[in-house]
Amino acid sequence: MDNLINDIDIISEEVKAESCETVKVSVNTNTGKSRKLYIESYGCQMNFSDSEIVSSIMAENGFDTTSNFEEADVVFLNTCSIREKAETTVRRRLAQFNTIKRKKPEMLIGVLGCMAERLKAKLLDEEKIVDLVAGPDAYRDLPGLVSQVDEGQKAVNTFLSREETYADISPVRLNSNGVTAFISIMRGCDNMCSFCVVPFTRGRERSRDPYSIVKEAQDLFDKGYKEVTLLGQNVDSYKWSPEVNNKAKLEKTEVSEIINFANLLEMVAQVNAKLRVRFSTSHPKDITDEVLYTMKKYENICKYIHLPVQSGNSRILEMMNRTYDREWYINRIDAIRSILGDECGISSDMITGFCSETEEEHQDTLTLMDYVQYDFSYMFYYSERPGTLAEKKFDDDIPLDIKKRRLAEIITKQHETSLSRNKLDIGKVHEILIEGTSKRSEEQLQGRNSANKVIIFDGEGHKKGDYVHVLVNDCTHATLFGKIVNTENK
Ligand code: SAM
Ligand code: SF4
Repeated sequence: MDNLINDIDIISEEVKAESCETVKVSVNTNTGKSRKLYIESYGCQMNFSDSEIVSSIMAENGFDTTSNFEEADVVFLNTCSIREKAETTVRRRLAQFNTIKRKKPEMLIGVLGCMAERLKAKLLDEEKIVDLVAGPDAYRDLPGLVSQVDEGQKAVNTFLSREETYADISPVRLNSNGVTAFISIMRGCDNMCSFCVVPFTRGRERSRDPYSIVKEAQDLFDKGYKEVTLLGQNVDSYKWSPEVNNKAKLEKTEVSEIINFANLLEMVAQVNAKLRVRFSTSHPKDITDEVLYTMKKYENICKYIHLPVQSGNSRILEMMNRTYDREWYINRIDAIRSILGDECGISSDMITGFCSETEEEHQDTLTLMDYVQYDFSYMFYYSERPGTLAEKKFDDDIPLDIKKRRLAEIITKQHETSLSRNKLDIGKVHEILIEGTSKRSEEQLQGRNSANKVIIFDGEGHKKGDYVHVLVNDCTHATLFGKIVNTENK
């Protein structure tokens, strides 16, 4: 089931690159099922993974997917609430669906994900077009909710579970290139970063059964996949026991065995040496030397860490409730460099213009960027979210033009740093996993090195899924360019 979801271009490439605000759309499966489902997914990779779970549940209940919402019986928007703009985009999209619904009133429109969870039944009042609202832990109930709407009622389930991990559901791979896939290893988040809506929309932290994760990795490898990314809001705090999977409960219960993130990483790395393993996202307060040494021990664990700092200033970090300060963060960076070396890729998320941030504090973010030399960053200006700790405790007092100017400054700094980090790769040979043809030319292939950098080169008869060695001979701030020097299937 290749390529069931396509990226659609509702925002420019540049904005996408800086903000990870991608949208993915289901594509056609024609297995003769009686009804058609169209899903549009917004926001983070976790959401795209959830849409794969939703498709799997709906396929079991008589639905093929389609890329054309006009022929759909059911339309789901799997939404994001992280910034105000994400919600505005969804509301605009719902308004566009109004025209279709007028022509085809029997078409069911459902809102899933974080926005559904945040607004609950209120969404039915605010957006008359919506028939169904389902939060991230209610997807097993979707067939029942659809039946309820079929019978003429509106349907809502926003119950947040303390245990649900969808461990037994085999996701229908939706946006797959057949080479790389995402595996969700945990749900929810117990950190209460003051700016963030996620703990309210995705509930308490739960870790998925490691044996089901290893089985999913093995199944993917058997189907020809060569890379898996283990996904969670805070993967380093993964903790599972046979008795309890809810993190808060686990910490208070006596259990027979605990599997932590380093143990899980090792279990997945052992599936096969030809299967690359990545993970995201790491939290600076939780990433341990044990994880770094496990990464070092296995060549197939990619040397790349996404370690969002959010701000380079300790006072702002405290207000953000990130539970680390600048010095702690620098200590973690130093540990990465001393255990994994200079070539390990490091990326970050950053927020400018958080409540009361001064110019000097903003400068601290810029100097931290100089220190760390990030390869890449997702950068945002602060967007106040209803119900968060920051909304309750602090004034959103930095004017939008200043937030945006500071954002532009960190983006400029990041481009410079990305370019100088990429230049260090020139003249070196990298092992690349080929993911497909380059977006610019069918003649050229593209793939990633261990540090997660995209590299483009002439194909010379190779195909996606092959490992090749490429000598880097040029770069921009976003891409490396090179030439295959010798080939070797790992
Ligand atoms: N769990 C991850 C972590 O702690 O790093 C990130 C999760 S969040 C989906 C992705 C990023 O969105 C955050 O790292 C943060 O930079 C950004 N973000 C979250 N809330 C925000 C807000 N209210 N305004 C602007 N950016 C925000
Ligand atoms: Fe949000 Fe913080 Fe949890 Fe990340 S760790 S999802 S930023 S609360």
